[in-house]
Amino acid sequence: MTPQQQSTQAPLVVVSGPSGVGKSTVVARALQRDPRVWLSVSATTRAPRTGEQDGREYFFVDDAAFDQLVATDGLLEWAAFAGHRYGTPSAPVLERLAHGTPVLLEIEVQGARQVRERVPGALLVFLAPPSWDVLEARLSGRGTESPDAVARRLVAAQEELAAASEFDRVLVNADVEECAQALLDLVAAAFSSEGGT
Ligand code: 5GP
Repeated sequence: MTPQQQSTQAPLVVVSGPSGVGKSTVVARALQRDPRVWLSVSATTRAPRTGEQDGREYFFVDDAAFDQLVATDGLLEWAAFAGHRYGTPSAPVLERLAHGTPVLLEIEVQGARQVRERVPGALLVFLAPPSWDVLEARLSGRGTESPDAVARRLVAAQEELAAASEFDRVLVNADVEECAQALLDLVAAAFSSEGGT
């Protein structure tokens, strides 16, 4: 079944925004609060960071395996970001939606645009930082990337921030708890409008 043929019975909610804005933290908190929501696990060609496990944070694949996913139309969307490729495996997402489980995708902006094209009912949520200075400090201070990688992500972040107006909703991540709750409220509202319970 192609995504276009899929009649979405539960909401597909995309959380996007610049690297360093706190997407993972907000999404993780939202999932703790409401475990009924399912977070898609992406495939990526980037190397695991310390503490990351294959199949949990990501499916860590090599270039050939990623090429294969693209060639077999196995990805709902994918994008190159800061020197690596990232994509959402379609099948698990479509299965959950068909069974009435709300699905979250935590992806960057180019991928969010593809989801908008392929899944018309999807809700696109942009997570914005309280200010540029806060974003820069978070990205530089988290210590997970080399200075080069941080610089690439800051360039990408400027472009991504400019895309906020393309999204259905913008949430400012000034407070993780409030932001996670606001996200769950949007999921619940999307669920009612999809006819879920
Ligand atoms: P990171 O390397 O920090 O885990 O992720 C880099 C960026 O890629 C983040 O903005 C993250 O949200 C995004 N990302 C993660 N998975 C996917 C995916 O499947 N598709 C797309 N388009 N972006 C993704």
